[in-house]
Amino acid sequence: MSENEKHESLNFIEQMIEADLKSGKRQSVHTRFPPEPNGYLHIGHAKSIVLNFGLAEKYNGTCNLRFDDTNPVKEKTEYVDSIKSNIEWLGYKWSGEARYASDYFDKLYDFAVALIKKGFAYVDDQSAEQISAGRTNPSTPGIESPFRNRSVEENLDLFAKMRAGDFEEGSCVLRAKVDMSSPNMHMRDPIMYRIRKTHHHRTGDKWCIYPNYDFAHGQSDSIEEITYSLCTLEFRDHRPLYEWFIEKLEIFPSEQTEFARLNLGYTVVSKRKLLQLVEEGHVTGWDDPRMPTLSGYRRRGYTPDSIKNFVKKVGVARRDGITDIALLEHSIREDLNKKANRVFGIQNPLKVVITNWQDDRVEILQATNNPEDESAGTRDMPFSREIYVERDDFMEDPPSPRKWFRLGPDREVRLKYAYIVKCTGFKKGDDGEIEEIYCEYDPETKSGQDASGKKVKGTLGWVSVEHAVDAEIRLYDRLFKTENLNTIEDDFLNHLNPDSLEVIKSAKLEASLASAQPGDQFQFERQGYFIVDQDSTDEKLVFNRTVTLRDSWSK
Ligand code: ATP
Ligand code: MG
Repeated sequence: MSENEKHESLNFIEQMIEADLKSGKRQSVHTRFPPEPNGYLHIGHAKSIVLNFGLAEKYNGTCNLRFDDTNPVKEKTEYVDSIKSNIEWLGYKWSGEARYASDYFDKLYDFAVALIKKGFAYVDDQSAEQISAGRTNPSTPGIESPFRNRSVEENLDLFAKMRAGDFEEGSCVLRAKVDMSSPNMHMRDPIMYRIRKTHHHRTGDKWCIYPNYDFAHGQSDSIEEITYSLCTLEFRDHRPLYEWFIEKLEIFPSEQTEFARLNLGYTVVSKRKLLQLVEEGHVTGWDDPRMPTLSGYRRRGYTPDSIKNFVKKVGVARRDGITDIALLEHSIREDLNKKANRVFGIQNPLKVVITNWQDDRVEILQATNNPEDESAGTRDMPFSREIYVERDDFMEDPPSPRKWFRLGPDREVRLKYAYIVKCTGFKKGDDGEIEEIYCEYDPETKSGQDASGKKVKGTLGWVSVEHAVDAEIRLYDRLFKTENLNTIEDDFLNHLNPDSLEVIKSAKLEASLASAQPGDQFQFERQGYFIVDQDSTDEKLVFNRTVTLRDSWSK
């Protein structure tokens, strides 16, 4: 590959990093992933994780994990724990211990005092409404607060009293003295500190003033000497403010670069909305297999590789778009096709009696575990007089043999790894439902040693009745029925897919699955990929459908 081609295959962030390393502007790559612990991580966060940790890996740098825990109201330790375990599950290791913006509250307080001393910050006694009204709009210069020109001494005194708890919540704030006429609203004297007499999940009751995100985030990057602060596009307009703080405080010059958020079809990527789904009981929890959280995908059967490959394929863009969910589904099919052993699982069982098979005879047949991976070997499949096939695989009155390759009166099919059988009859219950069907097998047609010369088009899966394992199967589908949830005008809850879960209570699985453990993954032949769920008990296995074998939506 020529230098030029190599350069073109890099994304714009990699191009910037390589240029900086070459010019000597930067000596090392130090990134961070900065989640706010106010919910579980979703697929959008995976993009940020893969980007930040991936760049650190690629350029021999380091990546910090920092919890942006400056808002004491919404944060919980449960979220911190889930975030750590999700990152580890993806296979990444953060540099040193996990960090917390709240660890920097003392430093941030000192930064604030330093800005007051330089005349760049002031205590404003106006109400929130007055402050907001004073900002006016981008095309009209803002109105300066009557408190804007307080003396340094007075500001120092008032800020100390804010910290000491002498004032009520909402009675005053600390603002940066930037530029009330800037066309960028973030520069119109943004709020740095608010009074909040709230317990914090890490600092307890030590503080009753808390820094705003815009005064904590950029400064935390500087404190950790992050070279590349990567964030999503909505922070572009905040960048001049972060640069202003760095300049006025003369601290480490972290550089912010924005990239497009990941938006995914049929999916919401907003912690606020995901929390609402959980709290209102539309799903069973943050790790419901329909949730686009990393915990949900994991329980659904998505592998770390499938998520990482997906995110890499999406790439890093500078403009927002929406990614086709088929790409994510393709990624998990591709991964499990290589890794998952094939088994027979019958979702809607119909009993077949092989009438010319001796009553108690059991023959052990050999089945291939994974045609994509010879090293996966074979397994034993007991075959007996009574078996189950899918109810869909039989029709009482089927169309012509050129259109219907499965079972029907007088029709022949191969039972995979076993024999060719011919349907000789069936029995109906009083309700008109087919109760069982009758077949005869041809002893000359055993798979692997068939000398009959017979040709049949249909091959069916089956499970021996006597050896079958009972299971519950949860057929998950997309949580929403609308592709682009960013452009809807009504409540997103109106777009929930009412058929996102179908539970099959009494599926029949092949005997080898008796020993399956939670987390084990399989391909149920002709149906899809499935994972054993944590709800499984000794009495009953529970399987989640990860994804169907083929995309059944794109028609
Ligand atoms: P949400 O809107 O879901 O609350 P957020 O951006 O507020 O998302 P944070 O916990 O602040 O969530 O995000 C941590 C990091 O993940 C940030 O750097 C953020 O830019 C990034 N991130 C969040 N959502 C996405 C997304 N959809 N695509 C890419 N990166 C994302
Ligand atoms: Mg946020």
